[in-house]
Amino acid sequence: MSDTTFRSHAPGYWPAEAMHHWNEARWQLRNRVDSLADLEARLNLSDVERAGVLLAGNKLAMSITPHFFNLIDRDDPGCPIRRQVIPRLEEGWSAPEEYSDPCGEDAHMPVPGLVHRYPDRVLFLVTDRCASYCRYCTRSRVVSGVGEQHLETQWEAAFKYLEGTPQVRDVLLSGGDPLVFSDERLDRILTRLRAIPHIEFLRIGSRIPIFMPQRITPGLCAMLKKHHPLFLSIHTNHPRELTSEVRDALGLLADAGIPLGNQTVLLRGVNDSVAVQKSLLHKLLMCRVRPYYLYQCDLINGSSHLRTPVADGIAIIDGLRGHTTGYAIPQFVIDGPGGGGKIPLNPQYIIDTTPGKVTLRNYEGAVFEYPDPSPMPPAVRHRLLAQSHQPQGV
Ligand SMILES: *Cc1c(COP(=O)(O)O)cnc(C)c1O
Repeated sequence: MSDTTFRSHAPGYWPAEAMHHWNEARWQLRNRVDSLADLEARLNLSDVERAGVLLAGNKLAMSITPHFFNLIDRDDPGCPIRRQVIPRLEEGWSAPEEYSDPCGEDAHMPVPGLVHRYPDRVLFLVTDRCASYCRYCTRSRVVSGVGEQHLETQWEAAFKYLEGTPQVRDVLLSGGDPLVFSDERLDRILTRLRAIPHIEFLRIGSRIPIFMPQRITPGLCAMLKKHHPLFLSIHTNHPRELTSEVRDALGLLADAGIPLGNQTVLLRGVNDSVAVQKSLLHKLLMCRVRPYYLYQCDLINGSSHLRTPVADGIAIIDGLRGHTTGYAIPQFVIDGPGGGGKIPLNPQYIIDTTPGKVTLRNYEGAVFEYPDPSPMPPAVRHRLLAQSHQPQGV
């Protein structure tokens, strides 16, 4: 059985007085854990983590909302939450296969901030800030604002490009995290996009429902609802992230008619087992979220300690397909290094193809043959045609 219980983790590491403000997004942002002193006041850090925090200052900032910090298990040095947000020494080494821009996004920007890789849809990077920073961030070259490179979204040029590019029918707002913006600012961006007649479909990628469910208010949902069809993709990696507060926030979004998807990054020591994935996927369905992609971790500098062999991801999908609800199963993908777009990876279910048939296996390993369609024999065709000319009912 997978563990599908939803717990609240408040107040955790914070004094009881903090509960007066716990449900305010602004309080969560102001009280983020973002320094070595903050961290050491709450946890015993290992030498490897202390070194990581000191190195992070000019690479990708550390910042953890109190809500998310509370999910850390103080007694478990390998805690899957801790590995996602507390920097480690290993981040300071770039393996030879790694890049600062693993998906070649900078080379696909017709306008700074707008990535146009696929013919009909664009990725619009609207901010470089998030509520908390994931250590394996594929955009750490610009995200958090402490590195050498900066995101300089050219708003007017981006809107002009979209207005003048009728093949774009789908705009995905990402960053950074678009939900760091106020309701008013997001509303202005979405209204401007909605005014472009050929843009049919809008979506937002955000981890804020997980890092800071307090941001999901009835006011935000009422605003988003004006811009339908609008989908939201959240980013969840471990079942513990789905707390009772997160479930309630996702419920508000779903009640506003926003179809919810989830993206997970496969991470070593965090979610690289069928058992953890199953708990996560089952809890997502209970939150009315449809798992969308499972990503092989991008080749971002300093991520080798978090990456898994490709075969591990395929084995996880093999362990899910047929063994649980089809709706629970995400598509495993690799975002092509250097800029190939998302490439689906699947277990091998075709054992053999010969002219006229394929040989398949099912989830249990049983073998089946599926033949191609046979042409109707001409003699049968003639007989049936002749019969159809005879009087009916005799
Ligand atoms: C992921 C991505 C998209 C959206 O891809 P879907 O498969 O439609 O979800 C669009 N543009 C870029 C550059 C992306 O990386």
